[in-house]
Amino acid sequence: YLTLSRDEYLPVVLTVAGSDSSGGAGIEADTKTITAHRCYAMTCVTALTAQSPVAVSDVHPIPKEFVQKVLDVNLADMKCNVIKTGMLTVDAASVLSAKLQSMAEKERPKLVVDPVLVATSGSALGDSKLVEVLKKELTPLADLLTPNIPECFELVGEKVEIGSLAQLCDLAERVSRVTSCSNVLVKGGHIPWEDEQKKYITDVLYVGSEGKCIVYKGSYVDTTHTHGTGCTLASAISSNLARGYSLGQAVYGGIEYVQNGIAIGCEVAKDHVTANGPI
Ligand code: PLP
Repeated sequence: YLTLSRDEYLPVVLTVAGSDSSGGAGIEADTKTITAHRCYAMTCVTALTAQSPVAVSDVHPIPKEFVQKVLDVNLADMKCNVIKTGMLTVDAASVLSAKLQSMAEKERPKLVVDPVLVATSGSALGDSKLVEVLKKELTPLADLLTPNIPECFELVGEKVEIGSLAQLCDLAERVSRVTSCSNVLVKGGHIPWEDEQKKYITDVLYVGSEGKCIVYKGSYVDTTHTHGTGCTLASAISSNLARGYSLGQAVYGGIEYVQNGIAIGCEVAKDHVTANGPI
């Protein structure tokens, strides 16, 4: 049985995100990941979704006033170390930004923004109005931004070629500039690279204060079962930051956590059969 020691202090992570009824992404993935990292998860739900792991059937946004109330109550009640955002509505992004700006700088939790605009599956989860509000109001307050490649294109306003590592790093730097967020982790899981007949994936972290790019190279797992990996990665990084790790360590630990999850998930699921057939 899992037991907690009486004097173990659990750092607090607040996730501001949409609920995924299928449990694989969104606030459900966030709370599981935060808990697995021995942190305490608080939530602020921005929208409810009805969905399966392959398609979103409906979205029900939470009213602005209610999002405001949840943020006020949560942040008054408990010291929060890190706020992580996922799927946001325009209202939720504005309310959160105003809330953070109303706090004294030293009281402000760290902020990790996963700019959920395009799910790992490719489904659109945000529009151009949201992109505008994110860039104007929220990302300038963030300590880290974690876009996937299609989300980078939405943020910079065009598709660019990324056939080399240098181009991937340039893209990360460009996202940092247009979002006024110093640190940007571009998640490269969408495109496998090839090296001596071996496929691998590359994530790059642009660190603005040092003007440099850190490259994380990981093994490629050939699977389409990656629903929720973006949410899980941002939550793992947020938890590591809440536990006091440096940005570089927090990102490294988060990537390892997600890569293991994908590999183990494939292993465990290979004999599993769902109502829709084998996984
Ligand atoms: N947030 C919610 C509520 C979602 O439903 C999804 C995907 O369906 C996401 C975020 C993004 O998921 P992923 O981590 O797969 O990009």
